[in-house]
Amino acid sequence: MLPPVFRFAPSPNGFLHLGHALSAILNFDLAKAAGGRFLLRIEDIDFTRCRPEYEEAICEDLRWLGLTWEQPVRRQSRHLDAYRQARDRLDAMGLLFPAFESRAEIARLAVERTPWPADPDGAPLYPGRGKSQPAQERHRRIAAGAPYALRIDMEKAVAMTGALQWQETGRGPGGESGIVSADPRAWGDAVLARKDLPTSYHLSVVVDDALQGVTHIVRGVDLFWSTSLQRLLQALLGLPAPLYHHHRLVLDADGRKLSKSTQSTALRELRKAGVTPQAIRAMIGVV
Ligand code: GLU
Repeated sequence: MLPPVFRFAPSPNGFLHLGHALSAILNFDLAKAAGGRFLLRIEDIDFTRCRPEYEEAICEDLRWLGLTWEQPVRRQSRHLDAYRQARDRLDAMGLLFPAFESRAEIARLAVERTPWPADPDGAPLYPGRGKSQPAQERHRRIAAGAPYALRIDMEKAVAMTGALQWQETGRGPGGESGIVSADPRAWGDAVLARKDLPTSYHLSVVVDDALQGVTHIVRGVDLFWSTSLQRLLQALLGLPAPLYHHHRLVLDADGRKLSKSTQSTALRELRKAGVTPQAIRAMIGVV
């Protein structure tokens, strides 16, 4: 049997905080306990927010925590071709369509139709107009250089895969555990790529987890419902389903989710203040 493969996959758009420490340490400890491998993956496809200095800081903070990982580190920005291929496969299956509305336009349409459902991230679902646009009109707008998002035709996709599940060894926001039924419809016609970027968070994660042979996905419970969409993409692309473990979040004194912009819970600030890696483990309840 091959050893299990775990990964910590931060986006270098800010400094790591205690919540990241919990994810990284859980992955590292579980990998070690199982005689498995631990990978670091840099999810830097958002070129407007990601910066090399944050990536350097992430590595420094993780080393300080006592973690070690395999080389080379996969940087998503260097693998756009792999994501483009996956996008093209979904497109060849007739599952993608270009949608030309901006986020603001979709938000406006949603307000007009209140109550209008939102996806698990809180963004209004796509109202579906792009699907009925004649092919000629789509081609004309693309040729004219209009920006667009490539969205998945969710009903078509779900009809192709049938019902999907995943195995959860952690806990969802409503206590979900064991075999969980995926609900990709909750995401509507989700964006999988854009005119100037052949991928999205969901598509690259699924492609990378498969290419890197990741067997165990351990991450915060805020990503629990993302698993529904990711399972759908795995099924459509014929990729294996990893095991999932969603863990509790580290909250601030007011019970809110930590943010990369808060200094007081940033690992480097705590380090500067003299906190030790052992004390960090105690603070997040992993000893
Ligand atoms: N890059 C994502 C984040 O920083 C995590 C992706 C994942 O663990 O699936 O939130």
